[in-house]
Parts: sequence; C-alpha cells; structure tokens
Amino acid sequence: MAYYPDNESSGSTIRVGWLDKKVPFSSGMVDSTFLQRLQKLYRDRTNQTRGYHLCPFCTKPEFGTPVNIEGEEIKLGSAEIHVRDANGQTFIAPDLLYHYILVHGYCPPIEFIEAVCSNG
Ligand SMILES: [Zn+2]
Repeated sequence: MAYYPDNESSGSTIRVGWLDKKVPFSSGMVDSTFLQRLQKLYRDRTNQTRGYHLCPFCTKPEFGTPVNIEGEEIKLGSAEIHVRDANGQTFIAPDLLYHYILVHGYCPPIEFIEAVCSNG
C-alpha cells in the first residue's frame, strides 16, 4: 500500500492513515464516540480493490484483516473510507484505519477526528 504523510492534501482531498512500517505514527487513545462514528462510515466503503493489502504492523497479517464493525465481521484492506469536513474537503483513509487504531494504537490527526465526529 502506498505511504502518504498524515494530512497531506492534494486539491480538495486530504490523506490520513496511509501508514508505513518505516515511518513512526502518532499513537494515543481515541474516544469511543469517535470510534462509533467511524464505524458508521464503514457502511459506505468505497474504491474497493480486488486484492487485500496486508497490515504492515501485524507479525502474522491475514489477507483481509477481520474486524467487528457494528456487530458484523468484515474484512479490511481492500477499500477506502471517505469523510467530508465542514470546509468541503474530503479525507481519504484506507479501511485498515480502524484496525490501526484498535490494534496498533494509532491516533489520527485531530482534523480527521473532528470531521468524523461532525458527520451524522
Ligand atoms: Zn495489524
């Protein structure tokens, strides 16, 4: 999977969560409201690809990283999450984002957290 620094923007899109093993990422706790809102965005995953990207941080990554979203097990690594902020910019994140947060302690930029929390 391609690496992009957090908050890298191009036009009206901003990339978040395109992590790589070689580059340290910000870690920390995120609140449960954010996680609940984030789960809702998984109903509208987009840009589905045929293959699965493996998690670069798991020692034994699976093809299609399983995760429980709203009570349903889905497999991550082959789609994107898009969320618009109040300024009309769109954050684009790999769907592995939820796994990165839950399993590897990744903390996305505050701008992204705010955009997710103000959505729905
Ligand atoms: Zn992992």
